[in-house]
Amino acid sequence: MSYAPFTAAARQTAQQLAGISRTLYERGWMPGTSGNISVRLPDDPSRALITASGRDKGELTARDVVEVDARSGRSSRPGQARPSAETSIHAAVYRVTGARAVIHSHSPYATVVAHRVAARDAVASLRVERFELLKGLGLKDPAAMELPVFPNWPQVQRIAEDVAAHLTAGGEGPPGLLLADHGITAWGDSLGQAKNRLECLESLCQLLVLSRSELPVSRA
Ligand SMILES: [Zn+2]
Repeated sequence: MSYAPFTAAARQTAQQLAGISRTLYERGWMPGTSGNISVRLPDDPSRALITASGRDKGELTARDVVEVDARSGRSSRPGQARPSAETSIHAAVYRVTGARAVIHSHSPYATVVAHRVAARDAVASLRVERFELLKGLGLKDPAAMELPVFPNWPQVQRIAEDVAAHLTAGGEGPPGLLLADHGITAWGDSLGQAKNRLECLESLCQLLVLSRSELPVSRA
């Protein structure tokens, strides 16, 4: 069942969310129905809009988002469609950080890096340093970051618990994380900022992959 948010502000927010979804789909970052996006409601930040489960991200409209409690991820309105299967990860980020928007994608370079550095059943950490794009992440020290890589448990709730525990213990880490063999999640103060940070993280992963390739150097 589709659902139209109540207020004009919420409708506008849902439209912005849908626009970002279509943009990321067109880049190949949300193939099929993968990926999910959420944002706290401007007039009630205890609640968030999130993509409904199983929707084609290239055709997303404002009617394909549902309202949830931001901290628990539970649907906050009866009769609406099911929220994204990964809503509990968004809720974990909202509970622990001051984020107002969260984006999860299956963008290719982040997914490749998350595939390569994944630890089987523990949180791994990927050190990224020197690249100028680190400055786009709002880090306290933009010289380097430790990007966490979480096991991709079949139970999403278990991933969410890992994420909440790690973010609670870790202090001010980067505004993003990788899921082993799966994809990337980034967050920020707004949908725009979350998207910018997602782009920086995807680009950094691309640079890491490319910088480890053979370079076409000719030798005399
Ligand atoms: Zn995913």
